[in-house]
This record gives sequence, structure tokens and C-alpha cells, in this order.
Amino acid sequence: MTFQNTLEFAQQLDAKDKLFKYRQEFHYPKVNGKEVIYFTGNSLGLQPKRTQKFVDDVMTDWKELAVEGHFYADKPWWDYHERLASGLGKVVGASPKEVSVMNTLTVNLHLLMVSFYRPTAKRFKILCEEKAFPSDQYMLQSQLRFHGLDPKDALVEVKKREGEHFWRTEDIIQKINEVGEELALVLMGGVNYYNGQVLDMETITKVGKSVGAFVGWDLAHAVGNVKLNLHDWDADFAAWCSYKYMNSGPGNASGIFVHEKHLGKKDIPRFEGWWGTKKETRFLMQPEFDPIETADAWQLSNPPILSLAPYLASLELFDEVGMDTLIEKQKTIVAYLEFVLHEIDKQVESSFEIITPKERGCQLSVFLHGEGRPLFDYLMKNGVITDWREPNVIRLAPAPLYCSYEDMYHFGQILKAGIQEK
Ligand SMILES: *Cc1c(COP(=O)(O)O)cnc(C)c1O
Repeated sequence: MTFQNTLEFAQQLDAKDKLFKYRQEFHYPKVNGKEVIYFTGNSLGLQPKRTQKFVDDVMTDWKELAVEGHFYADKPWWDYHERLASGLGKVVGASPKEVSVMNTLTVNLHLLMVSFYRPTAKRFKILCEEKAFPSDQYMLQSQLRFHGLDPKDALVEVKKREGEHFWRTEDIIQKINEVGEELALVLMGGVNYYNGQVLDMETITKVGKSVGAFVGWDLAHAVGNVKLNLHDWDADFAAWCSYKYMNSGPGNASGIFVHEKHLGKKDIPRFEGWWGTKKETRFLMQPEFDPIETADAWQLSNPPILSLAPYLASLELFDEVGMDTLIEKQKTIVAYLEFVLHEIDKQVESSFEIITPKERGCQLSVFLHGEGRPLFDYLMKNGVITDWREPNVIRLAPAPLYCSYEDMYHFGQILKAGIQEK
């Protein structure tokens, strides 16, 4: 498709967009009385309007039924989390029994490490990408120290090449093979938060498994963004948060995936609690743990229903739209944003460098050479919500559920004005 950087052209794209009507499903913050252009769905997704009712229903059930709500609410609380499994399974490419929702992301990664990082004298190394998201780095380092290991010896980071902004699959593969029999675990971010790169999860999983390591994925920036096939890829485990592209609210519950082949085992190392034991016998309050034969075996506590409610609302939306339709629009809107950036680049003195490689999802990370913090402030004051990373990178994520092509056009004009007014 040949794009044009005009309002009319952007509006034509919106008119043809199957997802355009979903804009009305969301609440937008306002700046100067106008709904913002929202580029930070990769950080905190907008609130779907239907979410309020899901939360209100729980509040009402609690008010009217109190403890009886566990069993007699319209959506009973004791198995409320199971309602999320089939929708989530579709989003991550897993069967419902392979997914569960609990805790928050970093907590879940720690819990999954209990099961999938079991270092021995010979096989003890963990491989990740350099400059992984800070929480992941802290998590990995503290796990290693917990096992009496020194991250300097046991943490292997795959680097980008000199002068390049992205990881090359061949370098990751080479590193995995090099560490070989010493490699206990590959744990990486499926989509990098900084440059927006989508790693070749299928290949990396295959290679990691071929040297005998467990392979897990942090999917914080991948879930609800790119096509995932966790089961078929044969990943051992994964975890993600729900508040980025999944629009489920600040700090909300995290999802986990555990591959079918690890389910139903009593002898797998795992930190356990009463919500992971079989429902049929749970309330007999017996001392012996009898794991549920699904990923729910990793659940510890009775789930936070008020957190699950917004996640369920959001999954209903994702189920209606479907990942394929979402990704189809995403590819076009990101390409259009890229086009607009190139067009504006020609009209101003500053130069933009998109550091996101072609393996991308929703996000473009852009170096604004010759620009600084004042441009970011200008954008924010003029209704463009984006984020700034030192020294001068902005991350733009036009989430396909609620961003329009017209937004992309207006963004270009605001960006140009911000540079010219300097
Ligand atoms: C957003 C994000 C997190 C956040 O972790 P929480 O435990 O939810 O605070 C962790 N890892 C990555 C890669 C992220 O993008």
C-alpha cells in the first residue's frame, strides 16, 4: 500500500479499519479538553469501558452475599480464575489447562524458577539478553545468589553487536551452543521493552532445548501484542503482566504458562499453597498436597477477585477481536507511523533513527537526534502521551485496539511543530 501523509488519507484508512469501532470501548485521558493520542499502551493500557461493570459486580456480590459469594455469586469466586483460562490460552497459544492467573509478574518468575531452575554442579548457567528489564535482572541475580552462585560466573548475557541496536538470532544460537551442557535455563524477554524487538522465540526455544536446558519467556511486552504459540514451540514456562497491552489495570495480576508435559506431577519442585491442591479435596483441609492437573497447581492463595475482574473484561474484548485481526491492524498502523516519521524527518532539521528492527510488534523506538527533553515535554503538553528514555529515545506503541490512523497523522504534525518551534 502506498501511504500519504494527509488527514484525508488517514481518515480513509480509519474508514476501512475493522477495529475502528473499538475506540469507543475505551476511556481516554484528556489534555486541553481533547482526548489524547496514546502511545504508552506498552506501559499501561487504557481502561476498557466494560471493565467497570465487571468490578462493580464483584463489589455488589461482596456487599450482598459476603462469604456466600465464594459459591453463590453469579461468577463464584472460588473458581473465578478458571474463567480466564480459555481466553488467555488463545492469546498465548496454549490449552486452557496450561495457563493460570496469579500474583504479579516478578513474583511469578521467581516461583517458576523454583520449578525450572535446578542448578547442578555441572549444569548451572542461565542465559538472558544483555540489559534485560531491570526487574528480570534483579530476579535472576538474586536467584543465583540464593543457590550460592555468583552471577559473574553463572549469568550469561547475549550482547548486541558493536554499533547495532538489536540482537541477532545467530548470536543467541551460538551462545546457547557455546554454553551447551552447562546451560540450565534460557530466560529472555520475548519482546524487548527498550528497542521493541521480537525475538525468534520458536528457534531460540528449540535450540535451548536441544542442549538440554529449560526455556522460559518473560512475555510482558509480547502478550496481546504478537503471535504466540507457547505450546507448539515447546516452551517450558512463561509469565506476563496484564496491565500493558492487555489493558487490565495498574499492577494487575499476572498470567503464567506451564507446558502440559510438566503438569500433574507431585515430584516437581514447587512452592505450594492450598489453591494449588485439588478442588475436590481442598476443603477437607487434609495435610497432603494433591496438585491440580493444570497450571493452577502453581497457585498459592485464593485469588484476588477484584484484580481478576478487569482481566476477565479485557479478555472478553480480546476474544471478540482475536489476535489475528489485532495483529493485522497492528502491522498496518505501525507501518503508517513509520511512514509518517520518515515524512516529517524530511521536513525538519533533526533526524530520526528508528532503532526497532524489522522483527517488531506494536512498538517503534526512535532516537531523536538533535532533540532533547523539551521536545518530549512539548509532545506531552500537546496531547501526545509517550515515554522518554535517556538520552533521547521515545517509545511509540500505537495499540491497535484504540489508536487510529488519524492519531498517527496528528502526531506527525505535533512532532513537526514541536521541532520547528524550538
Ligand atoms: C513491565 C515488565 C516487568 C514488570 O514486572 P512487575 O513484576 O509486573 O512489576 C517485568 N519484566 C519485563 C520484561 C517488563 O516489561
